Amino acid sequence: MGKASRDKRDIYYRKAKEEGWRARSAFKLLQIDEEFNIFEGVKRVVDLCAAPGSWSQVLSRKVYLPVKLAPDAKDEDLPLIVAIDLQPMAPIEGVIQVQGDITNARTAEVVIRHFDGCKADLVVCDGAPDVTGLHDMDEFVQSQLILAGLTIVSHVLKEGGKFIAKIFRGKDTSLLYCQLKLFFPVVTFAKPKSSRNSSIEAFAVCENYSPPEGFNPKDLHRLLEKVGSPSGVDDTDCCSGRLEGPNKVYIPFLACGDLSGYDSDRSYPLPKVVGGTYQSLDPVQPPIAPPYKRALELKKGTSQGGGIRELENLTLDS
Ligand code: SAM
Repeated sequence: MGKASRDKRDIYYRKAKEEGWRARSAFKLLQIDEEFNIFEGVKRVVDLCAAPGSWSQVLSRKVYLPVKLAPDAKDEDLPLIVAIDLQPMAPIEGVIQVQGDITNARTAEVVIRHFDGCKADLVVCDGAPDVTGLHDMDEFVQSQLILAGLTIVSHVLKEGGKFIAKIFRGKDTSLLYCQLKLFFPVVTFAKPKSSRNSSIEAFAVCENYSPPEGFNPKDLHRLLEKVGSPSGVDDTDCCSGRLEGPNKVYIPFLACGDLSGYDSDRSYPLPKVVGGTYQSLDPVQPPIAPPYKRALELKKGTSQGGGIRELENLTLDS
């Protein structure tokens, strides 16, 4: 699909370029904020799986820049935003970048060090593995990213704080909901208007972080494993004990974003240009080292007769 054709078919892709966002995902976070007011009072944030950086841009514009540009701004009042991804990303004002794997304990330690004993008000996670198209597999890998996010949450989020995480809806959605409910009394699964209906993605909006009394982050996985087991953690809680049947747990599911606004599943006509033809804008900031970069270089090499063996090896290794 060419850029102009995509501009027509994907209104949020076009709007992202017009408004200076690195990815259309920016609108998802903005629409979640419209419904849940997630940035109110936020001074410290962790952005997990942040590249190419559109959520970090939203955080910079909504949380950092208003304080930085205030007439009486002081350095010590500046908000702290830490963004982590496997991939490097181009700098964003007010955002500290950490390159690493969020499932790795050492990455969590680096994040915690940045907070220097203070706690975050908000943790967001838009992590997505390379989708295979096998729904069960994709849902499973996605849930591992959320659990890695929850590990970081258990170390850095302050009581009362919020956690927003991308989920893939599937057969284990109720289990995930119940696991999140162990730590957050209010959990809503939200579908922003900018997220296509055809996509199984949604976002868990978890409010008012309240870990169980005496909770030790070292026990996180043991605690999560108990959810849904016959001898659940606390039989008085609707989310522990057996998860029998589809009616056992009712998950609040909410569409968010201006419902009369742009529909991500619709094509929109391109803007009329006086005296010329429509020119598609370039992306604001292409990824600086995407995982497919080497493959593209090798593919170019193949067309000149070189690189075939290395490309074969790369394909076999990945
Ligand atoms: N929120 C981003 C934005 O607005 O630009 C888009 C995130 S993109 C959908 C998903 C990201 O998850 C990718 O950049 C990928 O590198 C990252 N990711 C996947 N697994 C990861 C892991 N284990 N640790 C860190 N990042 C990971």
